[in-house]
Amino acid sequence: MPTIMKIIDELMNYELIKVTGKGEINRGKPPQMLEFVSNNHFVVGVDVGTTFISTIIMDLSARILCRQVLPTMVEQTPDEVIDRIIESLHFVISNSDVEKSRILGIGIGMPGILDNEAGTILFSPDFAWENIGLLEPISKEFSLPIIIENVTRAMAMGEKWFGEGRGLETFMCINLGFGIGSAIVIDGELYRGVSGKSGELGHMTIGRDGPLCKCGNYGCLEALSSASAMSNSARVLIKSGRKTQILEAVNRDLDKIEAKTIFNAAKDGDPLALEVVTQAIEYIGIAIANMTNVLEPGLIILEGGMTKAGDFLSVKLQEVVDRHTMRYVGSHTRVILTRMGENVAAIGAASFLIKRLFEHGGNADELFSR
Ligand SMILES: [Zn+2]
Repeated sequence: MPTIMKIIDELMNYELIKVTGKGEINRGKPPQMLEFVSNNHFVVGVDVGTTFISTIIMDLSARILCRQVLPTMVEQTPDEVIDRIIESLHFVISNSDVEKSRILGIGIGMPGILDNEAGTILFSPDFAWENIGLLEPISKEFSLPIIIENVTRAMAMGEKWFGEGRGLETFMCINLGFGIGSAIVIDGELYRGVSGKSGELGHMTIGRDGPLCKCGNYGCLEALSSASAMSNSARVLIKSGRKTQILEAVNRDLDKIEAKTIFNAAKDGDPLALEVVTQAIEYIGIAIANMTNVLEPGLIILEGGMTKAGDFLSVKLQEVVDRHTMRYVGSHTRVILTRMGENVAAIGAASFLIKRLFEHGGNADELFSR
C-alpha cells in the first residue's frame, strides 16, 4: 500500500493521472477513482525510411499534434541525412507549441542492425551505412532522452501499444518494403537476442543458389522477395521479351517499375505480374511458415510499403503459410495487415518513451529531472 501511494503521488505530481471521483462500495471508506491523463505529456517519434523521414510529436494516447515528412535523400552522406532528421525534429517540436518540459523524449526507428546503447548504426544494408553514430549528433541538439531502435521493432511497439498487438503476449511484425525485417514480441516483451540483433528475417537463406543480397550473402529472402527484388525480377522478364501491361503503366521506363505497379497489374490478371508476385509471396510465406513452426506466434502483422497491395497480399500469404506450416502448429496463425497506417513506425518509436515512463514507477523524478 505505501508503495502504491508513493507511485500514485508521483504520477499525480506529474499530472499523469487525475482523480475522477469516488467509487461505490458497500462498506468502508469509498475508494478514489483515478484516470490516466494522456494529453499533458508528449513524445516525439521518427521513422527513418529509405525514401522518407517521417517525424511526429504525439500525446500519450498517440494523438498526433504535428507531423513532417521529408525525402530521405539516401544517396547523400550520412551527415546530410542526420541533418534532415534534426531539421524535422526541430520543425515538429516548434510547430506543436508544446512546452519543452512536457516532452518526455525522442524515439528513432531506423532500418538495420544497431547498437542501441551506443546509439550507433552498425550495419544498414538499405542505407549502405556501416558504423555511423546517430545518437551523438542528435543529442547535441536536444537535451532530451533519446531512444534509437530498429524500425521493425518500433512498428511492433506501435502495434503493442496502439494497434493489433494490444493485449497480446506473443505476436510478430513483418516489415515488407524496400528491405524485409521482422520483430518478435514474446511474453509481452520485444525479443532481442543475446546482443540485440535478432529479427533479421530478410536475411534468412531461402534459395541456396539465389541472387547476391546487399548483406553480402546469396539467396536471402530480401534478395528474392523485397519490393526492390520484385522490380528487378519484372525488369529481367520484360527484357527477355515478355509482354505485360506494366510497360504502359511506367511509360516504357523500366526504372520506374515499383512493387506497387506490379501488384496493380497482378490484380488485373497480368500474367507476368502474377508470376512475379506469386514467386515473391511464395518465398515470404515459406519464411513466415518457418518462423511459425519454430515460434508459433499466433498473429503475424504485415507492415511496410508492400501492404498497400491490401488483402490481395495477406490472403495469398495466408494460403502459403497454411500450406507450409506443420499440422497443428499453423492452425492458430493468422496473417493480417496493419491497421495503423503510415505512422506506425513513428508512433512505435515514440512509444518506447511511454514504455520507459511506466517502467519508472516510483522513480519518475529521475526521469523528469534533466
Ligand atoms: Zn542478406
